[in-house]
Parts: sequence; structure tokens; C-alpha cells
Amino acid sequence: MSRIFSGIQPSGELHIGNYLGAVKNWVALQHRHESIFCIVTYHAITIPSTAQELRDRTAGMAVSLLAAGIDPERAALFVQSDVPEHTELAWIFNTLTPLGELERQTQFKEKSQRQESVAAGLLNYPVLQAADILLYRADLVPVGEDQVQHLELSRVIARRWNATYAGGEEFFPEPQPTLTPTRRIMGLDGQAKMSKSLGNTVGLLEPPDAIWAKLRPAVTDPARQRRTDPGTPEICNIFHLHRAFSPPPVVEEVAVRCRTAGWGCIDCKKVLHENMVTELTPIQERAAALKADPRRVVDALASGAERCRTLARATMKVVRERMGLA
Ligand code: SF4
Repeated sequence: MSRIFSGIQPSGELHIGNYLGAVKNWVALQHRHESIFCIVTYHAITIPSTAQELRDRTAGMAVSLLAAGIDPERAALFVQSDVPEHTELAWIFNTLTPLGELERQTQFKEKSQRQESVAAGLLNYPVLQAADILLYRADLVPVGEDQVQHLELSRVIARRWNATYAGGEEFFPEPQPTLTPTRRIMGLDGQAKMSKSLGNTVGLLEPPDAIWAKLRPAVTDPARQRRTDPGTPEICNIFHLHRAFSPPPVVEEVAVRCRTAGWGCIDCKKVLHENMVTELTPIQERAAALKADPRRVVDALASGAERCRTLARATMKVVRERMGLA
């Protein structure tokens, strides 16, 4: 069985953007692959926060992931900093990675332009990602389109380490991408990717009336000024949310009614709201049960970390031996 690895930022409660863009796919993948899912605290500290904030956001993310359907009996769910071998391997990979390759990474260029002083951790972020994946010698990595370049760097690093220290033997497999089926979800402002920092999200655990308060004013096709104006569903974010939450016959009906001005945008949003609530209610019930019994979350993370530490130590034993570090 192939092994998959994927990580997520400890950003507290999931929002529907990262649920649809990543986690819903993880829940399906855990039934088909040996799965390792990591809450990436070492990556998170490239943006400073207080210790308590990081702890709270890590715990919030763990609750969201378990409530969304990650099953600790099937998948190893753990916190990155509970397995310190990630940073050891990242340091080793840093010694094999030319500066120019890191400076060319699109995400680094975008993020560093927005900051006056750029931390070295931001530059080395994809090296730590390579270490995350290769530490478990994962074959597959579920990625969005914006992560494909980082994964390519992981393959280059694997090849380089194998050539330098393993005589060309494929100790580290070159991880392959498995593209996440849902395209990235735009925020309710229709302007940018759904993101907590932009305040354009819907939380996975938000109650139905709070979700409606956000959906009601959400941006739609600007051509639909009046109820009688026909629209183009493909350019409307609400239509893309229907694709994610509504059954296929409803999605077809939405497209027809939009194009023919058969209904208004509020009617369309009401149907979306109903389907969102149907999907989110069981998740919210599981989250409430986990919050009432936090020991279950602690135990799930502890058993995930134990399993991952065993795998990580086995990898590092070989790495250290081959490099003369042990
Ligand atoms: S009818 Fe629905 S899909 Fe069409 S513009 Fe309005 S909200 Fe968007």
C-alpha cells in the first residue's frame, strides 16, 4: 500500500476553504493509503505568535480534523514538533540545497515581497517540507496547484541525497503529487482565495444562522443586477460552492435557473445554505463531543506521534549512518 503524507497549518478551526481544498480529500484517501497527516507547528513559527496562541490553534485544528472525519485508527495524525527529527532532516537537506533554488520558489518571492525583513525560515520553508515528506519516505503527497513547485523541490532533494549518500540507490523515493480534486475555494468577497487573514471565510463549526449571515451578502455574478437579469454560473463563487456541497442534479438546476433568471441569487443561496448545513451538522456534532472530552484529542495526537516517531527514527538511523553522523 502506498504511503501518503500531508500537512496543514495550526490555524485553529478549519474553514470551508481548507476543508474542501484539502481535508475532505484526506478523509477519502485514508481509506485507500497508509496516511500520515501533520499539523505543521515548525512551519507555523515562521510567523510569530505567543506560545498560548500556538497551543490553542494547534488544539483547535486537531479538533477540526478529527471532527471532519480523520480517523486516528486509520491515519496517523500528529503535531510536527512532537517529532523533532523533522528539523534534523531539514538541516541536513539545507546542506544540499543551493540558495538560488530557494530564492526561485514562487511562494517565497510572493511572501518576501510583503515583508521588510525576511526570516531565513521563510526561505528554507520548502526544505522543511521536503524533510516532512521524505522523513516518512512517502510515495504520494496530496497537493493543490500552488504546492506543485515545492513538491518538485522535494524530488530534487531526494535525488540529490540518494546520489550523494546512497550511491544512487533510491533510499528516499521521489514523492509524486496527487492533485486535490476540488479547485481552490475563493472567499465570500469573490476577490481572493478563502483565508482567515482576509476575513472572507466560513468556519466549519459556525452555526447555521452565522453561515447565512455571511452567505446572504456574498458576491455573485455582477451581471445579475435585477431578478430578471440572466447570469453566468461559472463566474460565480456561489455556484462553485454548490459544486462542493450540493448533489449533482441540484448543481445542474442551479446552472439552468441562473442562466434563465429562473430564480434570484437569494433563492440560490438558500438552497446552498441548506446543503451546507446538511454536510456540516454531523461534523459540528462530532466537534462538540470532542470538545466535551478533550482526552480523546490528546490520545489521538499521542498515538499518531508515537507511530511517526518510530518511522522517523528508522529513517534517521540510515541517514546518520550513510552520512557518517553515527
Ligand atoms: S443565481 Fe446563483 S449561481 Fe447565479 S449569480 Fe446568483 S448566486 Fe450565482
